Amino acid sequence: MQAQSRFESLQAKDKRYLWHPFTQMRDWARDEMLVIERARGVYLEDVRGRKYLDGVSSLWCNVHGHQVPELDQAIVDQLGQVAHSTFLGLSNVPAIELAEKLISIAPPGLSRVFYSDSGSAAVEVAVKMALQYWRHKGKPSKTKFAKLSLAYHGDTLGSVSVGGIDLFHEIFHPLLFKTYTVPTPYRYRWPTGDDPEQVRREALVKMEEVLGAHHEEIAALIMEPVIQGAGGMIDQPAGYLSGARDLARKYNVLLIFDEVATGFGRTGAMFASEHEGITPDLMALAKGITGGYMPLAATLATEAVYEAFLGEYGEYKTFFHGHTYTANPLACRVALANLALFEKNRVLEALQPKIRFLTERLKNFSVLETVGDVRQAGFMVGIELVRNKAAKAPFAAEEQIGHQVILKAREKGAIIRPLGAVVVLMPPLAMTIDELGDLLDITYASIIEATVKEKGGAYACV
Ligand SMILES: *Cc1c(COP(=O)(O)O)cnc(C)c1O
Repeated sequence: MQAQSRFESLQAKDKRYLWHPFTQMRDWARDEMLVIERARGVYLEDVRGRKYLDGVSSLWCNVHGHQVPELDQAIVDQLGQVAHSTFLGLSNVPAIELAEKLISIAPPGLSRVFYSDSGSAAVEVAVKMALQYWRHKGKPSKTKFAKLSLAYHGDTLGSVSVGGIDLFHEIFHPLLFKTYTVPTPYRYRWPTGDDPEQVRREALVKMEEVLGAHHEEIAALIMEPVIQGAGGMIDQPAGYLSGARDLARKYNVLLIFDEVATGFGRTGAMFASEHEGITPDLMALAKGITGGYMPLAATLATEAVYEAFLGEYGEYKTFFHGHTYTANPLACRVALANLALFEKNRVLEALQPKIRFLTERLKNFSVLETVGDVRQAGFMVGIELVRNKAAKAPFAAEEQIGHQVILKAREKGAIIRPLGAVVVLMPPLAMTIDELGDLLDITYASIIEATVKEKGGAYACV
C-alpha cells in the first residue's frame, strides 16, 4: 500500500512538472505510467516492485545489463579522482586511454577521436567536419549531403536535416538544410520485388544517379550501415555497403557511417562496418559506447580528414566545435570498463548462438497473418505489422498498432518500444537464451492479442 501511494504521488508530480520526449503529453496525462526505480541484469523494476525485461536495452544503449559490478566500480573509482574537468585546452586520463582503445578496435584507417555527448551531436560533428574538410581542400562548393530516405541520425537540426523521416522533416522544414535523397534499399517494399541482389543493384544505381549528378556540391554521403534503425529496422542487402563505399570514392564524396545504434556489438560484430570490411571516412558512435551507463559520443575520423584541419592559427583551419561536457571523465572511464568487459566476457563470441536462436524463433512470427516482414541484423530486430498480408497494406496510423502491442507486452512483463507499426526488439547483448525466449514469448503473445485476435482472425496463416 505504501508503495502504491508513493507511486501515485510520483506519478502526479511527473504529470505536473514533466515534458517527455517523443510523447503526446495529453495521452501521457491520461494513462498510467511506469516509474522505474532500479534495475539489475536485464530486468527493470518500478517503484511498485514490478519487474520487466529490458527488451530494447533502455533505448538501444545497454550492453551488459544493469548494475554490472565492473561498470559501477569504474564510476566509483573515477569519482575518487575527478568527476569532470574541461577538454577545451586541457586533457584528462580516461579520455586519452579511451581514444587509444577506440582506435584499436575501430575499422582500420580511422585514427582520430572527437568526443561529444549524444549521437545527434556526433553526427553534427561529422557533418561539420565534412563540410569544413572540403573547404580546406579547395572545394568550397561541396556543402550538401546525400542521405538515405528513412534515415535517422538524431534530433538536433543538422542531424534532422540529414535524416529522412518525413514526420520530423515536415514540421521543422524551414530550419533544415537541403539534402539529396537516395532511396533506402527497403526490400519488403521495393517497387520491383524483394530479391536482395536485385534490390542491391537497383538501389546502388539510384545512389549513383544522385552522386553522379551532384557530386560537385556533395560533401558527404551519410548512412547507417547494415541496418537503418529508427526508420523501421530496415536491413540492407549484402554488398550494399561495399557498393556505397565504391561510389563515394568514385565521386569524391566523404562517406559518413552513423554507427550510433549499430556499434558496440549490436549487429553481431563490434561495428557493422566490419561485415563488409569497410572503413568510412567519418564514423559516429554513441549509445552502446558506455554500456548504456552515461551520455558519451565520439566521431572518429581518418588521418586524411584530420590533416586537412592542420595549419597556422591565422588560417582558421581549427575545428570550432565543442561542448561543456566533452570527454567527461566519468563517462570515458565507464566506456573503458565497458570495452574491457567485451573482452573479459567474450561478448561477441557468446552472442553468435544467441543470434541464431533469435533467427530460428523469429520464423514463428513470420507466419502470423498480421506480420508482413521480420527483419534482423544480429540483436536488432524489427517485426513489421500489416493489416493485410497479401496486399502488404499497413495499419492506419491512428490505430497505433505498435503501441497496442507494447502495452500488452508491458502487462506480461517486458518493456519494448515500437517504431510505428514495427515492433522492435533490441535486447542487451548480455541477455541469456532463456531470457530471450521469455522476451520472444511475450512479444509473440502480445502481437496475437493486439492484432490477430482483435481483428477476428486465426492465429496463423499457413
Ligand atoms: C539514436 C540514434 C541517434 C541519436 O543519438 P542520441 O544520443 O539520441 O542523440 C543517431 N543516429 C542513430 C543511428 C541512432 O540510432
